[in-house]
This record gives sequence, C-alpha cells and structure tokens, in this order.
Amino acid sequence: DKIPLERIDDNRWRIPQRYSDAMHVPGIVYADNELIELMLNDNALQQVANVATLPGIVGYSLGMPDIHWGYGFPVGGVAATDAENGVVSPGGIGFDINCGVRLLATDLLRDQIKGSVERLADELYRNLPSGVGGDGMRLLNEKEMKEVMTRGAGWAVEEGYGVEADLEVTEEQGCLSSANPEAVSRQAILRGMKQLGSLGSGNHFCEVQVVDHIYDPEAAQALGLNQKGQIVVTIHCGSRGFGHQIAEDYIKLAESKQQEYGFHLVDRQLACLPLQSEEGKAYLGAMACGANFAWANRQLLMHGVRQAFSSVFGRKARTKDMPLVYDVCHNIAKMEEYAIDGEMKRVCVHRKGATRAFPAGHPEVPEKYRAVGQPVLIPGDMGRYSFMLVGAPGSMEQSFGSCCHGAGRRLSRTAAKKAVGSKQLLEMLEQKGVTVRVHSKNLLAEEAPQAYKDAQQVVNVVHNAGLASLVVRLKPIVVVKG
Ligand code: 5GP
Ligand code: MN
Ligand code: MN
Repeated sequence: DKIPLERIDDNRWRIPQRYSDAMHVPGIVYADNELIELMLNDNALQQVANVATLPGIVGYSLGMPDIHWGYGFPVGGVAATDAENGVVSPGGIGFDINCGVRLLATDLLRDQIKGSVERLADELYRNLPSGVGGDGMRLLNEKEMKEVMTRGAGWAVEEGYGVEADLEVTEEQGCLSSANPEAVSRQAILRGMKQLGSLGSGNHFCEVQVVDHIYDPEAAQALGLNQKGQIVVTIHCGSRGFGHQIAEDYIKLAESKQQEYGFHLVDRQLACLPLQSEEGKAYLGAMACGANFAWANRQLLMHGVRQAFSSVFGRKARTKDMPLVYDVCHNIAKMEEYAIDGEMKRVCVHRKGATRAFPAGHPEVPEKYRAVGQPVLIPGDMGRYSFMLVGAPGSMEQSFGSCCHGAGRRLSRTAAKKAVGSKQLLEMLEQKGVTVRVHSKNLLAEEAPQAYKDAQQVVNVVHNAGLASLVVRLKPIVVVKG
C-alpha cells in the first residue's frame, strides 16, 4: 500500500490514523518537498505508522526530517508512551544506547592551525582508539565497571579525565540515577570492561571543524562560539559493545514475552515491555547503565582530544582553553512530562536518532545557556557541514522536546559503497581541504557525503517548524574515523 500523506504546512505531513486500524494515533513527519520524496523511497514512513500501534502511545508517532529505515523504529523517530499503561520498546532506543555528540570549543583560529593540521590529525588518530572490536583507553576491573555504570561521566572526571565544569554542560550531567547494574548481563559487562574510551568504527568520528557561518550572534556568543574561523571539535560515539549487548538481551527478552502480554504488534521488531512490569523496569535500569557508560566514554575521548591539542599547540589548548560546549544523547528513553490534550501527562519519550531540544527557560537547560536554550548538535557529513542549534518552544508543543539528530542516510551502506570507492572519496575530501585518518579504509565509503541527505535542508526544516533554531554552521577540517 502507498502511505497516505496529508500536507499540514511547508514542513509537516500527517499520516492519518485511518491508514490502519492498528494505529492508536496519527503520524507526523517533518519534511520539505524534496525530503519527503526521499522518504517515500524508503520504509521509514511505514515505520512511523507502525510505531503508532504501540500500546499506550500518546499524541503522535513522529518522524524527523532525517528519518530513514531502522530496527523497528525509524532512525529519526520519536514516540511517547503513557507512564502508567504504556510500554518501552528497546528497538525504539536502538542498539547504540546513548549514542551522542559533544562539541568542544577552542580559542584557536583557522589560520593558527594551518601549518599543524597533519600533525594534529596524527595525534588525534593516535589518542583515540578505534576499530570494530578494539580495546579502549582504559581497561576496567569489575568494581570500576560498576562505578561507570552507576556514575557515568562523573566517575571519569573523578579519575582525571576532564573537569567538574564538563558535567554542567552534559545532558543529565552525564549520569542517569536510575541505573541498575543488576539488570545488566554478564556478557554485556565483560564487553564493556574492555571498551571504555574507544571510538569504534563506521559512523562514529572525531572531527576538527571551523565555524563557517553564524546565524544567531547572540546565541553563538552565549555558547562560546563567537567568531567565524574559530576551531571546534565534535565527537560522535556511544556505548560500544556494552550498549549493543544490553539492547540485544532485552530485545530477545521482549520478543519472548509478547504473547504473555497479549501484544500482537505489526512488526516483531517493535517488541516491547510494559513500563510498569518487572521486565520494563529492568530494561530502563540496564539502559541507564548503557547511557552512563556512553557518557563516560565520550568524557575519556574528549580527554584524548584535549591531550592531542595540547601536545600540538602547547599551552593554548589546556582544558580550560578547550571548554566543552555541550553533550547530547540521541538514542535514549526518558521519563518526562508534557501537556497532552490539555492535561499534564508523564510519558516515556523514545528518542531514536533524535535529539532533545529544550527551549530557553527550561529548568533542564544549564544555567549559563538558560536564556538561549539547550544546545542541539547536528552532524551532517564529513565533506559538507554540520550545525549547532538551540532548542525552541515549538519542540515542547509539537515533538516532546525533540528534533532531528543528523542529516540521515539517503543510501544504504551497500549502496553507498557501490556509489563511490574509498580511494576516490579520499581524493575528493583532500581536494576540499579535509584531512582524513581512518582505521578501516574499506568502511569509509559507507559514510561518504553522498550517503547522507543534505544536512542544511534537514536543519532548515526543524528551524522553520520551530523545533530548534539555527546558531552556527561548521565545516570539517580533520576527520578521524574508526
Ligand atoms: P548516526 O548516529 O545515525 O549513526 O549518525 C548521526 C549523523 O551523523 C548521521 O545522520 C550523519 O548525518 C552524521 N555523520 C555520519 N558520519 C559523519 C562524519 O564523518 N562527519 C560528520 N560531520 N557527520 C557525520
Ligand atoms: Mn552510534
Ligand atoms: Mn549516533
């Protein structure tokens, strides 16, 4: 069947509830005319409709402009379920629990790093362990692993990876207090003990970028991004094999329980657990351990970045000269409250490839940014650009405080590899002035700019729809990939 789409306005489309008897709410998809065409060639819109069938879903099933096909939920999907009689679907958080992005500022300008780019790339590559199953910067014993699971980035800071001020500008201060290590399997723990402080492979990266355009000088100033030509660093990574194992364990558990719960879902990948059940609570406790691991992981990686800068640029790159601007997670479930049909309701917000985007004045926004809104970090691709936005009031009214998380794929990994060879891609990037260091060369083409939608188009949609508002655009200078 072709998915019926009703146009709401320039940036929004509705999948009416009448499309399927199984839908409890309509779908809303954020896209302009061109992006919606890309989506129609993918299963993502069907997945938005599928998510609308989840028990206890409220409001809408949402698709952000970067949506593409994912496990059960689309990547770029947002769904809120009633805290009392709703469910949590592990596939609606995804396999990389708390995959996320952090951005550090520097006081260096593009001209000041010109002669040192190659050396900087080498230092970054050396300091950030990568590769598919590779070990991390810090091997943990069981006791330390438990600390990481329960305390997240705070543990890392205490161990000397970064400073206290980093935590104030990390979503949730880098720790979900709901973590329950008892709910995590032995296998997951063993995988985690080896991988803290590692970038992994494929889509995860560390990128040195330059501020290329400022849309909103006042907000940019508040975030410490005050001039064109300023050098910043973005890290994109998650919970590695640890989170992946937790996801696998609970997807398996959920699948085995569907009959018992009386759920007959339209896609078995939507397998879910009632929020009030023992299993649902266990998943959320384990997921929080995965999230905390990811925050500690990004904290260690950031330490490696600061060390690389400091060894190349000397004292101009000490921790205080390279402040963390913000850290967001884009694969997570959170218990939050929203007005739904005029009534405040507690819900479980699934953000899968979606970024929290709280507006100015929200108590969860760090005090120093409260007047401008929560920073929203949107990586685009390694050849064109990435963006920084701040959350806008529309997110609270429309999208459970959420917006997009990237440009989103337009080609599958296989199709991307067919479209461009790694050698050709490296030449193209070099021509653009992007220096690349990559662990697995044959995986690089999967992440080629051609494999992604145009991030500018994507962020324009969330900006125009009032979910988040544009602050700066960034261009890549050095890309380090797993
Ligand atoms: P995901 O978390 O879905 O794997 O990736 C998030 C987003 O990161 C993608 O949608 C894509 O736009 C972006 N991305 C992937 N690789 C790179 C890269 O090498 N550099 C930048 N700047 N963005 C990337
Ligand atoms: Mn990830
Ligand atoms: Mn990610």
